[in-house]
Amino acid sequence: MTIFEKIASGEIPAKLIHETEDFVAFHDNNPQAPVHVLIIPRKCILRVALAEAAHADMLGRMLLASREIAEKLGVLESGYRLVINNGRDAGESVPHLHIHLLAGRALQWPPG
Ligand code: AMP
Repeated sequence: MTIFEKIASGEIPAKLIHETEDFVAFHDNNPQAPVHVLIIPRKCILRVALAEAAHADMLGRMLLASREIAEKLGVLESGYRLVINNGRDAGESVPHLHIHLLAGRALQWPPG
């Protein structure tokens, strides 16, 4: 089980902000911005490059949920960034697909 599967099942505590039958969102424990949330599928997909057609609906719903989460956290108007790190050069550190939602300050572009 990945650490994120344990968070999704409640085995490891996390500050949940949103949950559905097949995905959950919680606050990152090492936030890189005033708002830093991770949206993850409950069942592990290792990374987005390994997602399959069967995951398309859920991935779409995860993306759509980001709007609701941004609204809940008061950053819908100010803006937010969604990031998926895929693989070593992207800085992926947890091998369980996750969408970062970052907001609450002016973010730099391009990212480092
Ligand atoms: P990435 O580097 O894209 O794989 O992102 C992994 C993210 O997971 C990092 O931002 C970590 O701070 C975050 N993270 C790791 N463990 C936990 C945890 N137990 N609770 C909340 N966030 C975590």
